Amino acid sequence: MGGTEDWRDQMKGRIMSLDDLKERMFPEMVITEEMRAAERVFPVSTTSYYASLVKTPDFQDPVFAQIVPRGDELRTPPWLVEDPLLEKTFSPVPRLVHRYPDRALIVATSACASRCRHCTRKRVSASTQESAISSSELQACCDYLRKNPAIDDILISGGDPLTLSDEAVAKILSPIVSVPSVKVVRIATRTLVNMPMRFTDNLVAILRRGKPVYVNSHFNHPVEVTPAAIAAASKLTDAGIPVASQTVLLRGINDTPQIIEELCRKLFHNRIRPYYLFQCDLVYGIEHLRTPLATGLEIMKHLRGRLSGMAIPNFAVDTPGNGGKIELLPQGILRREGNSTILVNSRGIEVTYPDP
Ligand SMILES: *Cc1c(COP(=O)(O)O)cnc(C)c1O
Ligand code: SF4
Repeated sequence: MGGTEDWRDQMKGRIMSLDDLKERMFPEMVITEEMRAAERVFPVSTTSYYASLVKTPDFQDPVFAQIVPRGDELRTPPWLVEDPLLEKTFSPVPRLVHRYPDRALIVATSACASRCRHCTRKRVSASTQESAISSSELQACCDYLRKNPAIDDILISGGDPLTLSDEAVAKILSPIVSVPSVKVVRIATRTLVNMPMRFTDNLVAILRRGKPVYVNSHFNHPVEVTPAAIAAASKLTDAGIPVASQTVLLRGINDTPQIIEELCRKLFHNRIRPYYLFQCDLVYGIEHLRTPLATGLEIMKHLRGRLSGMAIPNFAVDTPGNGGKIELLPQGILRREGNSTILVNSRGIEVTYPDP
């Protein structure tokens, strides 16, 4: 399956349940009662394109494990909550989240092409209703941006904004880029991964029409970097739209130094800049996918010694409450000695660096 198919057929023909997935894609797949119970709380939906990347229909498969619920999703230890980043608290007007002085996030729609089991906005994607921003809500968001000119960077997120039609995307972008203080827009989308045929010539033309736009995607595993995804990303970069990727560390899916190294290399070689490597958020339903912080630090240490800085993402935790994103680094500073700092490199060698 490639980039020739119409994305609207992918959206309309989405696989919408475990039974549907078994019937249409994986007749040999086993569906347990536990999986059905989890599905009733957090529904299933995916594109036939993304499901076609599954090699074996079991939880060892990195794509299958991102699509299919496990009974574990109903296990909720006390540190997991519905809205760990307090996005509801930091929403001054509906659909706008303002947590950092110069940036704001707009939730354009609750729909996604494929629902990820690890989604940080499970409260949004768990709802079966797919609702897009209305023109009055958009108006209110733009009024807020006009009143807060310190915000110069807008993230359009969801859900996935590129599940909307070209006309709807243009209608959302146009009033936002008309706010004089807005200098740059970032589109947060997973369609490069789960529906790369979305990037039609018309969409690319819409994205480059106004102010500078970045496309931020979400690749979690090298198998997702397919020829179709690479072709779509190239189309964007050729049109002057930089493409970046955020990866979420997921237990049993991508939590080894080798997998992340391969992913970062593949992305970098195709002009997709690895931007963040995220620790899982403390959102309900994902305890079984969480890794200890030490795993991410180990992976960063591995990458540091091998890859160009251009290919290395920032390892970050979006902390609960109002902590915001905190970047974590494997140890670089060992200690102070007089006027000097003792540093350690990726091979464990100590270096003395004098201050002026
Ligand atoms: C993550 C996030 C941003 C963007 O942060 P960057 O580090 O600039 O990518 C903006 N607003 C909200 C609410 C966020 O959660
Ligand atoms: S595409 Fe993004 S918003 Fe949609 S389910 Fe996946 S992580 Fe959540």
